[in-house]
Amino acid sequence: MTIAHTLGFPRIGARRELKRSLEAYWAGDSDRSELEETGRELRHRHWRQQAEAGVDLVPTGDFSWYDHVLDTTTLLGAIPERFGAAGDEVDLDTYFRMARGTAPTGDEVTPCEMTKWFDTNYHYQVPELTRDMAFRIASNKLFDETREALAAGHRVKPMLVGPLTWLWLGKVKGDEFDRLELLDRLIPAYSRILERLADLDGVEWVQLDEPILSLDLPEEWLQAFPRAYGELKSHGLKRMVATYFGELADNRAHLADLPVEGVHVDAVRAPKELEALASSLSGETVLSAGVVDGRNVWRADLESLLDTLEPLAREIGGDRLWIAPACSLLHVPVDLEQEGRLDDELRQWLAFAVQKLDELVHLKRALSEGRDAVSDALGTSRQASQARRDSKRIHRSAVQDRLKAVTADMARRSTPYRERRAPQEANLGLPELPTTTIGSFPQTKAIRRSRRDYKAGHVSEGDYREAMKEAIKDTVAAQEEVGLDVLVHGEPERADMVEYFGEQLAGFAFTDSGWVQSFGSRCVRPPVIFGDVERPEPMTVDWSTYAQSLTERPMKGMLTGPVTMLQWSFVRDDQPRSETTRQIALALRDEVNDLESAGIRAIQVDEPALREGLPLRRKDWESYLEWAVESFRLATSGVEDGTQVHTHMCYAEFNDIIEAIADLDADVISVEASRSDMELLDIFREFDYPNEIGPGVYDIHSPRVPMVEEMARLLAKAEEVIPRERLWVNPDCGLKTRSWEEVRPALANMVAAAKQVRERQPA
Ligand code: GLN
Ligand code: ZN
Repeated sequence: MTIAHTLGFPRIGARRELKRSLEAYWAGDSDRSELEETGRELRHRHWRQQAEAGVDLVPTGDFSWYDHVLDTTTLLGAIPERFGAAGDEVDLDTYFRMARGTAPTGDEVTPCEMTKWFDTNYHYQVPELTRDMAFRIASNKLFDETREALAAGHRVKPMLVGPLTWLWLGKVKGDEFDRLELLDRLIPAYSRILERLADLDGVEWVQLDEPILSLDLPEEWLQAFPRAYGELKSHGLKRMVATYFGELADNRAHLADLPVEGVHVDAVRAPKELEALASSLSGETVLSAGVVDGRNVWRADLESLLDTLEPLAREIGGDRLWIAPACSLLHVPVDLEQEGRLDDELRQWLAFAVQKLDELVHLKRALSEGRDAVSDALGTSRQASQARRDSKRIHRSAVQDRLKAVTADMARRSTPYRERRAPQEANLGLPELPTTTIGSFPQTKAIRRSRRDYKAGHVSEGDYREAMKEAIKDTVAAQEEVGLDVLVHGEPERADMVEYFGEQLAGFAFTDSGWVQSFGSRCVRPPVIFGDVERPEPMTVDWSTYAQSLTERPMKGMLTGPVTMLQWSFVRDDQPRSETTRQIALALRDEVNDLESAGIRAIQVDEPALREGLPLRRKDWESYLEWAVESFRLATSGVEDGTQVHTHMCYAEFNDIIEAIADLDADVISVEASRSDMELLDIFREFDYPNEIGPGVYDIHSPRVPMVEEMARLLAKAEEVIPRERLWVNPDCGLKTRSWEEVRPALANMVAAAKQVRERQPA
C-alpha cells in the first residue's frame, strides 16, 4: 500500500514558541530545562499532528535548536577547534556558540558562517572543512529524539543531511584541498550513525537528504555518489535518498543506480522526473513522489495530482510508490487555522503545513481505496481550484491588457547613459564624487512605536502622518548638517521594504501568523502574491515631495524593485514568475513616473534580491536574467533623460552576472564593498562598467564609526578602477538598524573623506 510520509516539518511552532523560548534562554531569562521542555512539546505536537492526520512515517531529526545542517555537523563531530569541544559530546551551548558566537555559557567566539539554503530564504550554518579533520559521533540528539518518538508510539524515519550534500555545502578552511578527499573518512562515520539508528528497535527507514542532485555537479562528484552509497553500511536499515528543489536531469542516472532502497524527487519543481525515474529505477526501489508543494502556500489540485499518480501506481505498484510533500515543510507557515488576517475567499485557496498533511493523506487514500473514498475532499479541492481560475480578484483584465501592450521601447531609456549625463548634471548640480545614502535612517523607538500604534488603530492617521513628517524633517536636517549631496527621506514609514509596497498594491495579501523560519530564531512573514498586481494610487509620492520641500538639495525617491518583491513573497503558481514580475514592474513604473512629475529627479529602485533569484541550474540563468533585467527596466525607463535612476544591491558577488547588472542601465548603482576591502572592484578591471557606481565605503553592519582616512583609502582604491567622474560615495546599505549616535559621525566622516579625495588629483 502507498505510504504517505514527510521529509520534515516546521519546528518553530505555529505561535513561534521555539523562537520565544530560544530568545529567552539566550538572554538568560530562562534556564535550559524550560527550553528543553518547549522543544519536547513541539516535537511531540508535530509528530502527533502528522500521525493523526494519517501520515504513515513521521520524520525525526527535523527538529532543530537552530539549523538541521548544523545538527548533522555536530552529529559528525565536525566541530572547528575554536569551539573547544574535542572529545566530548557537543553540549547545547557549544552548539549555540557555533551558530551565533555566544551562549549563556562559554567564551564568545567567531560563529560559523551562514548562507542561503539553495534557492530558499532559509539559511544554514556552513560546515568548516579542514584537510586533517576526523569524524566521530559527537551528538546524541538524533538518537534521543528518535527514541523519544518511538516511545510515543510513532512510526519514524530519522533524517539527516547526506554525506555528499554535507561535503558540498562545506567550506575549506586553512590549506586548500579538494573536499571530496574527506569522503573516505566521512562514510564510515555515516555507517556508524546508521548502525546506532538500526540499534533502536522499530526504525526501518532512514532519510538521507541529497538536494545537491538538483545542481550542476562536476563529474567527480557524481561519480562519488555510487561509491559513497555503495560503501555506506546500512546495518539492515532501508535508505531513502531525498532530492528536491529541481530536476535531476543529467544526474538522474546516478540517482537511479544508487544501491539504496528508496529515492525521493520533487515532482512540483520537476514533474517529468516521476515518469523518467519510474522507468529507470530497479526492481524493488521505492519511488517517493514529492507532489504537494513544500515551497508555496497554495492548496493542491488533488484530482490533477491523482491523474499523474494513478498510472504511476499501476506501473510500479502501489507498494513502491510513496507520496510526500516535494521537500521539507520547513519552508511554509505552520497552520492556516491559526491565521487571523486573511479573508475567507483567499483562505480557501491556501494550505499551510498542517493542511498539506491532509492533502497528502487524501491522495494516499484515493490511491489505495479509490477516489470515491475521498470524494468530499476531492470536491472541495476542485471547487477551490475552479474558484481561483475564475476569480475576479485574481484576474484583472486591465492589468492583462496593459501587459499585452508592453513594447520593447518601454523597457529602454530613450537615450544611452552618455547622453543622459549632461541633463542629469544640469538637474542635480552635483560635485565630483557625490555623497548619498542607501535610503533608510535609524528606526528609532519612537518611529517604531508610532507605526505600531497606527497599525493597531491607537492613533489617528493625521497624528501618525505628523509623526512621520517629524522624523523626515529631522532626517533631512541631519543630512544637510553633515553635508550630503543627494538626500533621502529616511523611510520611517516602512517596517519592511516589500511589505510597505505590497500593502498598497492590489494582488498582494498579508498574513498575521504565516511565519517561516529564516535562520535560528528569526522568522519572516512573506506576503502572498495571489492575483494580478495593480497600483490603485501613488505609494510614496507624498513622503518624497514633503521631504523635497524641506531642502534645496536633490531628494532621492526610494522604491523596492519588482524582482525583490517577487523573490521575498509567496508567488502565485498559476502563471510564470516572469509574468508576475512584469505586472509589479508596471505598477512601479507608474510610481516612478509620478515621482518624476512631482519634481523628484533621482529615483532609486532597490534590487537586493536580484542575485538570489538566480536559478539553481546554470542553463536557466540566461532566461531568468533576461526577464529580471527587463522588469527592472520596464519599471524605470519611463522617465526623461534628466531623471537619474539609481539601484542598490547589498552584495558584491557580481562577477558572474556583471553583464546583467550593466544591462539594468541604472544611471547609478550602489553596492556593498567595504567589508571585502573593495574586492568587488577586481571585476571592474576586466569589465568596463559603463555607468556610475558607488561601492560602499562604510560598513553599516558594524556599530563601529569608520575613520575619515579609512574611507578615503577605500575611495582611492576604487578610483584605480572606476574613473572619478563616475564614482559615488555611500555606505554599504541602509542605516535602519543603526543608531543616530553612530550614523551622524560616520556620515560626517564619509563626507570628509569624499572632500579629501576631491582635493587630490584624480588617479
Ligand atoms: N533602501 C533600503 C534601505 O536603505 C535598501 C535596503 C536593502 O538594500 N536591503 O533600507
Ligand atoms: Zn542593501
